[in-house]
Amino acid sequence: MTAEPPRNWAGNVTFGAARVHRPSSVAELQRIVAGAGSVRALGTGHSFNRVADTDGDLVRLDGLPGRVEIDPAARTATVAGGLRYAWVAEQLHAGGFALATMASLPQISVAGACATGTHGSGHGQPGLAAAVTGLRMVSPDGDLVELRRDAPGDRLDGAVVALGALGIVTELTLDIEPAYDIAQWVYTGLPLDRLTESFDEVSGSAYSVSVFTDWAGGEAQVWLKRRTDTDGAGHPGPSWLGARLADGPQHPIPGLSPAACTTQGGVPGPWHERLPHFRPDFTPSSGAELQSELLLPRAAAPRAFEALRRIGHRIAPVLQVSEIRTVAADDLWLSPAHRRDCVALHFTWTDRAEDVLRAVAAVEAELLPLGGRPHWGKLTALPLTEVAALHPRADDFRRLMADHDPAGKLRNAFVNGLFFS
Ligand SMILES: Cc1cc2nc3c(=O)[nH]c(=O)nc-3n(C[C@H](O)[C@H](O)[C@H](O)COP(=O)(O)OP(=O)(O)OC[C@H]3O[C@@H](n4cnc5c(N)ncnc54)[C@H](O)[C@@H]3O)c2cc1C
Repeated sequence: MTAEPPRNWAGNVTFGAARVHRPSSVAELQRIVAGAGSVRALGTGHSFNRVADTDGDLVRLDGLPGRVEIDPAARTATVAGGLRYAWVAEQLHAGGFALATMASLPQISVAGACATGTHGSGHGQPGLAAAVTGLRMVSPDGDLVELRRDAPGDRLDGAVVALGALGIVTELTLDIEPAYDIAQWVYTGLPLDRLTESFDEVSGSAYSVSVFTDWAGGEAQVWLKRRTDTDGAGHPGPSWLGARLADGPQHPIPGLSPAACTTQGGVPGPWHERLPHFRPDFTPSSGAELQSELLLPRAAAPRAFEALRRIGHRIAPVLQVSEIRTVAADDLWLSPAHRRDCVALHFTWTDRAEDVLRAVAAVEAELLPLGGRPHWGKLTALPLTEVAALHPRADDFRRLMADHDPAGKLRNAFVNGLFFS
């Protein structure tokens, strides 16, 4: 058991846990879970809401053995749930393998990122959880349960993006592929009119594309992550769609040092050193911030951009930067991209919580009617029951929770607010 006061990465949530545990073996974890009245897992604490919170027992899994076992024939890797993507990626790369996608930062845990539907960007890339072919978790009574993609039924599809409510995930098996290189090019000054007219062209112009803007200034920065084996390493030209090739490294947030960012300027490098925007050994993003994000059907992107430009001046005082990405459809029940290709509209706000929540509500008033679903790990101004109602498989997930955890030992106020109020 540890004595440190647990807070999330952003510092806006102090967890109410009566006890925090850091088991060093799965057997110890099983004993803790079996003996607890109410228990939740904590990953690296990068979520901005109370999804990981509990007033009972909180368990961290970063003390468990850091297993990364590659099966080259099956093209899968089985990894310990508490590991950070940065470390998993290094092991995979050393073995000649890669993941298809990564989030903007590599510091987050595999189990926590998958549990919340975390994603990167790319027309062809679903979220990180779509790579999960199997998982092993400790059930509420302390037993080990294994779910696999090749088992009959679609239970695994319900159990990967599960907000920690079905079991404590000790291991995940992930799809992998041969290692590849990425060349990252940054453009500045893309007019927002051109972005709106040509969004499919912009977002489809590389393996992974991120667009950054503040909605009020009329321009955007575009990060193209080109896969050298499929896109080629070159750039689309010194000037492209009215934007200019950057004359030096950039940070997504204006005024911040690009030293924290992954290598740009088209220098080809390993997938895990280019797909995230931020290096593992630096503070990602700005550090003093809150975040929210909505995923919408991709076809709604132009209407969403017009709406955000209309309210740009209202949200500008608390907005550091907004990021636009694409996420391919998947079959995961609680995924915001469940069975629909999405545009993901992300907002890095200041840390002035009250003002930020007003701005989040203003954004949601525009984007929810276009089919927006909030990111599970970020802020929303919506009542939780209304968030659950946006997910077509919410009832199936309720039944899955009742099956895995009839007494609700793994649920917290956040999960109960979503599904049982
Ligand atoms: C600077 C920054 C940048 C970000 N960039 C992105 C991005 O590019 N794309 C994106 O989609 N999101 C992004 N996020 C959000 C982030 O990816 C999610 O909040 C994600 O959940 C973080 O993983 P974590 O390990 O910190 O999870 P935590 O916040 O610790 O936990 C999240 C949930 O996972 C559950 N959980 C954790 N471990 C386990 C386990 N072993 N078993 C069962 N349940 C578990 C917890 O109970 C909780 O419900 C960003 C966040 C920050 C702070």
